[in-house]
Amino acid sequence: MRSSFPGDTPRTPGREPAVEVRGLVKRYGAKTAVDGLDLSVARGSLTAVLGPNGAGKTTTVETCEGYRRPDAGTVRVLGLDPLADSAALRPRIGVMLQSGGVYPGAHAEEMLRHTATLHAHPVDVDTLIERLGLGTCGRTAYRRLSGGQQQRLALAMAVVGRPELVFLDEPTAGLDPQARHATWDLVRELRADGVTVVLTTHYMDEAEALADDVAIIDSGRVVAQGSPEELCRGGAENTLRFGGRPGLDLVSLLKALPADSAAVELTPGTYRVTGKIDPQLLATVTTWCAQHGVMPDRIAVERHTLEDVFLELTGKELRA
Ligand code: ATP
Repeated sequence: MRSSFPGDTPRTPGREPAVEVRGLVKRYGAKTAVDGLDLSVARGSLTAVLGPNGAGKTTTVETCEGYRRPDAGTVRVLGLDPLADSAALRPRIGVMLQSGGVYPGAHAEEMLRHTATLHAHPVDVDTLIERLGLGTCGRTAYRRLSGGQQQRLALAMAVVGRPELVFLDEPTAGLDPQARHATWDLVRELRADGVTVVLTTHYMDEAEALADDVAIIDSGRVVAQGSPEELCRGGAENTLRFGGRPGLDLVSLLKALPADSAAVELTPGTYRVTGKIDPQLLATVTTWCAQHGVMPDRIAVERHTLEDVFLELTGKELRA
């Protein structure tokens, strides 16, 4: 399918990254929000920035957008300094803020059309309105739109100028499944047209579904960066999960398993074995179950997920 966001000229990924952050430090009084962060975003890629609450994601992205001044380090966006070169950079990037940044009394469509006029080659506003299901919002004041409509309007405003690079801050937070998938489709089309996308999200499935590259931020630093496959390969190997009665004696199970294995009771009656999961290990676990009168249910060998990697690296679950 031909996308609705054709560029004027085909964009080929250049060698210089779209975003290059080196040693970024940002403090708010005594609080160090970003602590020597390095991040590189390849041109034409979709990079998801993940991290627990307060990790420094928004501060990092806002610094790249030219809304915050670094205390130390360097930030280059499309080869430019977001603060010193903001006049040159602004027409080339799209920004979707979490809080909208919109005059609350303005009408939705009016605002979108106005934003389009600020750009030399905007996308077709009517198509965008239709794609994002904003048709019924036209004459409605921004403050009267539902949360989901405000989100979609903010996304439309970020992309209407046909940017080379777009920053999307939690674009699907709180959206219903239909609006979420419409947003994903639009983001995929941007990516297919060579637009570089930097997306912060709290949703692992969103990162896994959309991202070429994932950067995990914790305590103001990037603790891992790579494709979802690379990150999952880098963690523990496959996982064996099974259900049984709560409080099984895992010490005796561990004695039967190879030395590099681990076994934990995740929640009462739910067990996880990690290590080299092969047919022999599966046989060892089921034999041990038989010897201990345990009927394992829901037994499954699963791929190590991005969520597992995130938990291992940050010790925290990702919560919106
Ligand atoms: P979230 O997922 O909750 O949006 P985040 O990863 O985007 O979090 P930031 O918003 O960048 O994190 O915040 C990083 C840290 O800096 C947090 O501890 C936050 O409380 C603090 N912080 C952010 N903005 C300010 C500010 N304007 N003044 C003081 N502290 C701030």
